This record gives sequence, C-alpha cells and structure tokens, in this order.
Amino acid sequence: NPVSAVIREYGRFDREYRAFNRNLEDIHHLPAETTDGVRVVLRANVGLLSDVSFAHRHGAEGVGLYRTEIPFLTYSDFPDEEAQLALYRRVVTGMNGMPVTIRTLDLGPDKYPSNMTLPQEDNPFLGWRAIRLCLEEKDLFRTQLRAILRASVFGDLKIMYPMVSGVEELEAANVLLDECREQLRAEGVAFADVIEIGVMIETPSAAMIADSLAKRVQFFSIGTNDLIQYALAVDRLNEKIAHLYEPTHPGILRLIKTTVDAGQAHGIWPGVCGELAGDLDAV
Ligand code: PEP
Ligand code: MG
Repeated sequence: NPVSAVIREYGRFDREYRAFNRNLEDIHHLPAETTDGVRVVLRANVGLLSDVSFAHRHGAEGVGLYRTEIPFLTYSDFPDEEAQLALYRRVVTGMNGMPVTIRTLDLGPDKYPSNMTLPQEDNPFLGWRAIRLCLEEKDLFRTQLRAILRASVFGDLKIMYPMVSGVEELEAANVLLDECREQLRAEGVAFADVIEIGVMIETPSAAMIADSLAKRVQFFSIGTNDLIQYALAVDRLNEKIAHLYEPTHPGILRLIKTTVDAGQAHGIWPGVCGELAGDLDAV
C-alpha cells in the first residue's frame, strides 16, 4: 500500500525503463562490439519459457545461463524426468540451434521450491545449496542430469554446475553425469556425443583455483552476484549493507582477472553471467 509519492516515483522508473528498452530494440541487430572493435558474445539469462522470446527480441546469440530452478519454484511436485525434458527441450529448440547453457539446480535460501522441506540453518547462504545439495540428493540430481542429456539431441546444449568451491565437487558431479550417460546408453536412449561442461565461478575459492578448474572444464561463467557477496562478505539481499556491495571493489576485479587469465591460459571461454555483465561501466 505505497503512498502516492512512491507510486509516482515507481511510475517514473517504469517509464524510463520502457524507454531504455525501446532504445535497445533500435540497435539490437548491430554486432555486440566495443567502440574499439572488440567483438563480444552476448547471450541471454533465462528462467521461464517466456524469456526465450525476449532473448530473440533483444538479439541474443544463445542462452548463457538457464536458471533451471526458477520454473521448479512454482510446481506443486518436483517435476519428473519427462516434465523436465519437456521444459529443457522447449528452451533448446526455441533458440534455433544457438547455444543454450543449462545450469543444474541452484536451489538455495533465496529459491527453495515450496514442495521441499529443508533444514533450518544458521547461515543458509553458506549452507546446503546448489551443487552441495545435488551431490547429496543424488536421485534428484540424476533425474535432472538424465533430462538434460536427453534434451541435448535437440540443439547445442552445454551443462554448467553452480556454486562449485573445489575440484572435488566438479569431479563428483561429472561421475554422476557419466553414470547417467551409461544408463541412457544401456536403455538405448539418445543424447549428444559431445557436451561442453562448465562451472560457475561464484565463490572466491573457485576464482583462486581457476587454473585447476580450467584444466577440467570447457568454459567458465563468472557469477558476479554471488562472487561479490561471498568475497566481500556482504549479503546480496540485505538492504542495510547494500552500500557495501561494491561490484568494482579491487578485490572483486582481482578475482575476475585471476579467472580470466586462467581461462585464457587454458584456452577456455570465460563468460560472465552475473548482473555485472549488464552494467555498462563495469563492462
Ligand atoms: C550469480 O551468482 O552471479 C548468478 C548468475 O547466479 P544467481 O544470480 O542465480 O545466484
Ligand atoms: Mg549465483
């Protein structure tokens, strides 16, 4: 029940945002290139199916981050393999052969589905979430991995693991992925022969061991939203300390540089999927 001044203010934000988007639509056909001629690949972040049409409208060259947990939040039961396959297939085919990076479930304190009961934790953001949860809830993870593998025949699909903080998690996830491949092979179910595997770089430890991770994956995606919160010890949702959430803090820039250097040294692609990639000054 906001007061009229607030309503007016948000009305203005809305008008400005729409005008900004209209301007972007005028230039969406131009190549994504810096003024000094460096070409970058711009892909969309998607969560819901409706985001796919936005991605096309804005000229995205694929999907850089598909947050698979988002559609799950609204389901009354956890979607089974067929339901997940149907979803992933629609996103992959919807991108008409352009790459789609599917992130495995990043369930966390800010996004737990209503159908899951999770333990109370003192520090949920430092707790049982994302890849940590998936590596323990193996059936849930295998169901998703099988659905993703099956969707891989419909386009150019990549797999990305969230919240990796060490090499062991990446390797454990890949073991489960290989198990799923074996199962599908035995069942005679098709999946793509080659699928790129990547990790999110969103914990400071992942950035610091980016050289070790780079030997084991085909791409990085820097998740600046979480990388900033974990490196600066600033809760990304806490308004009281929002002024401390400083994306261009030298500590953050060094973590990004460490990651990019490691990626380049090993010939793998270091992308950015956090909000920082949409901040012109930061870009
Ligand atoms: C990030 O942390 O930067 C990111 C892209 O993931 P999410 O915002 O979904 O945590
Ligand atoms: Mg994140």
